[in-house]
Amino acid sequence: MAIRNPEIKYKELFINNEFVKAESGRTFPVFNPTTGDAICEVSEAGPEDVNKAVAAARKAFSNTAPWRTMDASERARLILKLSDLMERDLCYLASLDTLDNGKPFTESLCDLEYSIKTLRYYAGWCDKIQGSTIPCDVSLADGEFMCLTRREPLGVVGQIIPWNYPVMMLAWKWGPALATGCTIVLKSAELTPISSLYVGSLVKEAGFPPGVINIIPGMGPVAGHAIAHHQDIDKVAFTGSTAVGRKIMGAASESNLKRVTMELGGKSPLVVCSDCGDLDEAAELCHTAMFGNHGQNCCAGSRTFVHESIYDEFVKRAVKLAEERPVGDPFDEKTLLGPLVSQTQMERVLGYIEKGKSEGAKLECGGARLGSEGYFVSPTVFSNVTDDMTIAKEEFSSMDEVIKRSNNTEYGLASGIITTNINKAIMYAQAVQAGSVWVNCYDVCLPQTPFGGYKQSGHGRELGKEGLDEYLETKTITIKVQRKMS
Ligand code: ADP
Repeated sequence: MAIRNPEIKYKELFINNEFVKAESGRTFPVFNPTTGDAICEVSEAGPEDVNKAVAAARKAFSNTAPWRTMDASERARLILKLSDLMERDLCYLASLDTLDNGKPFTESLCDLEYSIKTLRYYAGWCDKIQGSTIPCDVSLADGEFMCLTRREPLGVVGQIIPWNYPVMMLAWKWGPALATGCTIVLKSAELTPISSLYVGSLVKEAGFPPGVINIIPGMGPVAGHAIAHHQDIDKVAFTGSTAVGRKIMGAASESNLKRVTMELGGKSPLVVCSDCGDLDEAAELCHTAMFGNHGQNCCAGSRTFVHESIYDEFVKRAVKLAEERPVGDPFDEKTLLGPLVSQTQMERVLGYIEKGKSEGAKLECGGARLGSEGYFVSPTVFSNVTDDMTIAKEEFSSMDEVIKRSNNTEYGLASGIITTNINKAIMYAQAVQAGSVWVNCYDVCLPQTPFGGYKQSGHGRELGKEGLDEYLETKTITIKVQRKMS
């Protein structure tokens, strides 16, 4: 059951398994996007707090520390314990996300369930991370050596997450970092810091040694900047905008050449072929691909390409679905669209709508703020959009054309195609430049399937076995074989 006014139990930084005030004493307000009212004040990490958190994480990573000397299977047990505690407090955590993000409670619940699955998936990897043996000794290859590799944890990792999936982004990042044995300094997003702090209390309850996980809410240009530039952080994992991704790569290059993985923006194409099968179902799929999580989703299917032979019929259905999407109080179980996360985000979306109109697209429905309280915008559909416009809903006539147009973007995060023709699906899946291709479905990200971007949508992969690689170093150990026996 949703808790409408959940008590906010933790508002301070979580460092070394303790909740502590920021050294500066500074706090920042967190807002409820449904009403625009402040929920509470949260401690704001500055560079000195980042230093403290990194020192704690470094100590926890030292060779003799409990985290480094415990059995890998014990590491798994701790992750599983944390998952169980998150499950115990599922409704409370989901309520926190709905309160400060504005996402419908049902979506928050799904996020939580998925986060727990992700952590459990990675718990299973802890004692299965293996190196290899490379034949280079006398009998197998030229040489007199025995050679093997060890996969070792990278070290102290900084993780900077966005506001669109507050707990889920944390789970995506913690799972592989913990499974490999790294230690963590997580900066939650300034718009949605509350749920991650509560998870901090569960980290302690689960029994993780102090310093393994540290959580520091704060501003991007201050705490985020300090993490990206830190000399004693070995890697930064970032999810957010391409603009900030550039800054983080620059910071890594200017400081200690720390590893960087990034999951950035997208402008993902979703193609509806003339042989899509049931047009109602296709329209529904595209609608959910666009409006799920209020469209505040890095892989949202935000460029819909519809075959010209079904375009008009498709647009009618898209408009009907948008007009009928229940908008309102995110705690109401009938609501599918709550407010946008902040005033800034609402203004940005309204700005895009104005741009669409002024660039000559046809506004089919929506296009305005709803009410005067909170940050609600009515579901909006444009038609007659061309590739050079900022927004997109377009028609196409051939597969060659739609492949070219799908790839005509600097991004490459995700893509989709709806067709009953397997050959078209395969042809598209091979040709599209995107990290994920969904055929007759969309946004099916599972804990075991790698996710990430081509081109300017990012570097590296999260989830799946590939997600582990981003937190591991490979060490090659070469041993001279002495053939003379004494
Ligand atoms: P969005 O536009 O989706 O809010 P951002 O890229 O601005 O995405 O934010 C994602 C995360 O990056 C947030 O946690 C934010 O605080 C952080 N961030 C913003 N600016 C910087 C920066 N200069 N250095 C490091 N992190 C930053």
